[in-house]
Amino acid sequence: MRPLYLTNTLSRNKELFKPIHEGHVGMYVCGPTVYGDAHLGHARPGVTYDVLFRLLKYLGYKVRYVRNITDVGHLEHDADEGEDKIAKKARLEQLEPMEVVQYYTERYHEAMRLLNVESPSIEPRASGHIIEQIETIKKILEAGYAYESNGSIYFDVRKYNRDHNYGILSGRTLEATLEGTRSLDGQGDKRAPYDFALWKKAEPEHIMRWPSPWGDGFPGWHLECSVMGAKYLGEEFDIHGGGMDLMFPHHECEIAQNVASRGTQGVHYWVHNNMITINGQKMGKSLGNFITLPELFGGSHPKLTQAYTPMTVRFFILQAHYRGTLDFSNEALQAAEKGYKRLMQAWRALGEGHQEASPSPEVQALQDAVLDALCDDLNTPIAIAHLFDAVKLVNGGSLTPADKASLKLFFDDVVGGVLGLKDEEAGASGKAEKALDGVMGLVLEARKKAREEKNWAESDRIRDTLASFGITVKDTKEGATWNLE
Ligand code: ZN
Repeated sequence: MRPLYLTNTLSRNKELFKPIHEGHVGMYVCGPTVYGDAHLGHARPGVTYDVLFRLLKYLGYKVRYVRNITDVGHLEHDADEGEDKIAKKARLEQLEPMEVVQYYTERYHEAMRLLNVESPSIEPRASGHIIEQIETIKKILEAGYAYESNGSIYFDVRKYNRDHNYGILSGRTLEATLEGTRSLDGQGDKRAPYDFALWKKAEPEHIMRWPSPWGDGFPGWHLECSVMGAKYLGEEFDIHGGGMDLMFPHHECEIAQNVASRGTQGVHYWVHNNMITINGQKMGKSLGNFITLPELFGGSHPKLTQAYTPMTVRFFILQAHYRGTLDFSNEALQAAEKGYKRLMQAWRALGEGHQEASPSPEVQALQDAVLDALCDDLNTPIAIAHLFDAVKLVNGGSLTPADKASLKLFFDDVVGGVLGLKDEEAGASGKAEKALDGVMGLVLEARKKAREEKNWAESDRIRDTLASFGITVKDTKEGATWNLE
């Protein structure tokens, strides 16, 4: 198997990837909190971990990929203070919270489908794992790393940090953590501002609530990933991914919960994608630059000068290394659109062949360079640069048939299979196929009618005319079938 290197946030090094169980990979990625449309900030992890998922499978691993849906417990301020994001949306829209969850989960799936992001192997919901979360809280309490306060349970960060290292992932010290935390005003239940909620008491007006040994409440946001990761991938698994904004506190808290409840950090490789900025600015609703994926695909946001197709957006994301920031602008998207189209044109020019062929040393070296780049910490921009060397060869028109056949298979496997790009113009020909199906239905119906009326001349005329277009009609017991040569 070709060696794969990944930058592990935990060691801050690029490491050779070695799975716990040979040939198998368990991967967990934090999914969306479903209270609004997916936006550019969801597209990047969506695409990044999709490429990792596809690459691992291409390399020959059997992968179990878990990506969760957060449908409870993600509060507005510092993740565990304030109103639940979903409950708030439900209140504003006068809906049942699970109606909000269902609606935005489906919208998220549709956006991911358009971006050609494969479905994960398992997509668990936080609200479906309340019992497991309560069991984990009990274990953390037994271990002495949590305390009850006024019906809520908080993680005792100071005590944990005395025995272990809170900050092992983010590199933050407890003092530095204090600086970024809001004052204790109104958070009187916590012993220290850096403590985080494992279970929150539900106030009478709070609708998303479950019974627990500590009274009615709901789980803290960080807990679900610790619990669902262990449930579906085991107490130790290979890869945990997410956006860099989740590294602290979300993933730091996950490690602390894992150690406190089961004595192991749980994750061997932590992988974090960087953020998307918009014209150099952080994306935010208050800045008026918050662009959702439906707006991007439809061109309906005031910051957009045009609509961008899902594959343009995917290509744009792949043009940057996942660990670097990616700045969105109309100019950058337009450049990505051109690049994407050039790559697709070359792919089409390689023809329809599917046969294996031994390429020349030059083409072999090029293919190796693409795969080496992908296996070097998912270096998609370098891989794409090498693919454009192949585009030059294709456009030069001097490729041997063997090189052409070999590149065709390589583009199918790597451009289509691993990078997950698809030819949107081929999509248009897909539409033409569908239309042809419909038209042929009408034509064959007319021919059937002619035959019922024993109008053999007309029925033969239809058959022969179709044959002149390369369409063969065959009469069977079930009726006529057709075939395009
Ligand atoms: Zn998570």
